[in-house]
Formats: sequence, C-alpha cells, structure tokens
Amino acid sequence: ASKRQGGSKVSIYHDSLNKKQAEKVHIETRLRKAIQKGDIDVYYQPKIEAKRNVITGVEALVRWNDAELGFVSPEAFIPIAEEAGLIQYLWEVVMKKACSQVSEWNKVSDEKMTLAVNFSPRQFQDPVALVNEIKHFLSLHRFDPAWFEMEITESTLLMNAEETIKALHLLKKYGISISIDDFGTGYSSLSYLKKLPIDCLKIDRSFIQDIQEDYSNSEIAQAIISLSQSLKLEVIAEGVEEEYQKAFLMKNGCDHMQGYLFSKPLAAEDFEEAFLNS
Ligand code: C2E
Ligand code: MG
Ligand code: MG
Ligand code: MG
Repeated sequence: ASKRQGGSKVSIYHDSLNKKQAEKVHIETRLRKAIQKGDIDVYYQPKIEAKRNVITGVEALVRWNDAELGFVSPEAFIPIAEEAGLIQYLWEVVMKKACSQVSEWNKVSDEKMTLAVNFSPRQFQDPVALVNEIKHFLSLHRFDPAWFEMEITESTLLMNAEETIKALHLLKKYGISISIDDFGTGYSSLSYLKKLPIDCLKIDRSFIQDIQEDYSNSEIAQAIISLSQSLKLEVIAEGVEEEYQKAFLMKNGCDHMQGYLFSKPLAAEDFEEAFLNS
C-alpha cells in the first residue's frame, strides 16, 4: 500500500530533487565564470568599539552579483563553492582584494584596522598548505599578521581535528588571531576553548535578536560574555541592529559590536566615503 500511495510522491520528490540539482550545477557554472572574469567583489563591514565609538577592524564578506542570476547570497553559493572545489579560488580573490585594500586604508586612517576573513571548513583539509598560503598572501601584500584575523566556525574544529589544531598553533605563532564565528550555534565541546589558541568569540546574531523580550537569548549572550571574560578571550556581538541591544551588551561587558546599527557591509568606495573621508 505504501508503495502504491507513495508512487506519485516519490516522482514529485525526484523531480524537485533534479531541479535543485540542475540549479546547483547552473550556479556552479556561473560562479566558475565569475571567478575567471573577475566578477567577484568584497564588501567590508566595520567592527566597532562602542565605548570609544571607533572602528577597530573590518570583516571582508564576499559578494557576487551575476549578470544572469542577479545578486546571489554567500549563504547560497559558499556551500556550492565548497562542494565544487571552488572555495580556494574564491578565497584567493577575497585575500588579494581585502589585503591590498585594508593596507591602503591603514596607511591613511588614524586608527589602524584589523582585517577579518572567513574560512570554510573545507580549507582545512590540508592545514599545512593553508598556513603556507596565508603566509604567502600576507607577505605579498606586506600585511602585518598581527592585524589579520581568521574567522572559523565550530564545524571547522570538528573536522580533521588533529591537523587543524596543528595549523591553528602555527598560525598563532605566526601572529594572526583566530575568532570563533557564530559562536553558540555549533555542537562542539567547549573544551577546545582552553586547548586551542583562540582569541575571540563572536556571539551569533540569533542570540542578539529580541534580547529584550527573549529571556533565554539574553541569558545565553550574558553567559558567552562571562565565559569569554573568565577565559580571557575577546568577545564581539554580531547582528546588532538596535540601540537597546547595544545598551544591553555594553552594560554586560561586551564592548565590541558589529551590525546594521553601525553599518551594513559596504563596497570599498562606500566604506571610504562613510568612514575614511572625514
Ligand atoms: P558571517 O561570517 O557570520 O557574516 C555575518 C553575516 O551577517 C553577513 O552576511 C552580514 O552581511 C550579515 N550581517 C551583518 N550585520 C547584520 C545585522 O545587523 N543584521 C543582519 N540580519 N545581518 C547582518 P553575508 O555577507 O550574507 O554572509 C553570510 C555568511 O557567508 C557569512 O556569515 C559567512 O559564513 C559566509 N561568507 C561570507 N563571505 C565569505 C568568504 O569570503 N568566505 C567564506 N568561506 N565564507 C564567507
Ligand atoms: Mg564571519
Ligand atoms: Mg557570524
Ligand atoms: Mg554566519
């Protein structure tokens, strides 16, 4: 009976699966072209120290506006890039653009800014090679490692653990700092926080939302802040959109923030216009 009833359902399922697969392949093809043609861009979102109201750093975020597909969100194409083996090429574009751009900015701005780049778990498949590539790009652009920040998620720590840990120690020794992105949403054990050379926790945006009404979110945000304080880690809140969130965070000892309240991610020219042409 289940077979008879399920017959049409199964084929509908297959159709939509095929459609999804075809769409993915299409995105992959377009993305490959975009990388070759130089159609990949980088936007910059400031990290703010709220008390002094200064920008202490920027996060580089990849952008792809395709002639045919329109704007494609990184949430949609990063996983495809990972699967298709394109993440390395994307990363190289981001590194090239961001390192040279932020070096330029740091020459002219009063306050030097750190540069944070996002890394995918896939990039840690060969951690030793990754370390060498990072060194290569930073030295190519004469970018001081002390001003470079790697953003990884907990999922990176779960895969290929031993090699990854080795790489993180090498990177640390080299002078770059390491942040855990989307902190609190992963499933890894917290013991890595004392074993690994982690510098900063980024409180996931989902815990910052509704901080006023959602008691458990505000509790979690507070817990992450005190965890970071007791482990002597830095802490930054993502997705700060409202004044009340900023006030809550400052009151609870989290002075570093990122979010639309301060600025959306901006194209380089717009970033300059907004923050560097004073
Ligand atoms: P993420 O690293 O956690 O970046 C934060 C995301 O939240 C960005 O989305 C940013 O535009 C968005 N955001 C920032 N402030 C606010 C806010 O106040 N409210 C809301 N609603 N959103 C805010 P975006 O640029 O679409 O990137 C999404 C994710 O894609 C990133 O999450 C990161 O995981 C990944 N990604 C982006 N660029 C790269 C890259 O160059 N390489 C890799 N591997 N991943 C990247
Ligand atoms: Mg990030
Ligand atoms: Mg994040
Ligand atoms: Mg995220």
